[in-house]
Amino acid sequence: MAMQPYKGSCHCGAIQFSFEVESFTHGIRCNCSFCAKRGTMMHLVPGVQFQIEAQDGALGMYQWGTKSAKHYFCKSCGVATFSETSKWPGQYIVNLGCLEGVDTFALETKVFDGKHLL
Ligand SMILES: [Zn+2]
Repeated sequence: MAMQPYKGSCHCGAIQFSFEVESFTHGIRCNCSFCAKRGTMMHLVPGVQFQIEAQDGALGMYQWGTKSAKHYFCKSCGVATFSETSKWPGQYIVNLGCLEGVDTFALETKVFDGKHLL
């Protein structure tokens, strides 16, 4: 499969990011206590591919529980953009709703049972 470039941003544009992955037709939703409230559809992206451009002070970070994950969001518009977790080291978990040209409502949904596995 060919690699495809993707660009993403938060709602106000203070945080931008880009990466290349093989094109995908599904997204992952997680049922852990955090993701169930946040409601994002996600995809794993290798960290070496991942480029972040954030305005000074725009990138917020939230941790909970064992603090094994870093959930990044925009301090201005509140949109969750991506996360990192020790469960998948070296990868970013991207909020697919932030990507240009991706319709999350058209993607197949796979459920990660974070409620029991995290
Ligand atoms: Zn923003």
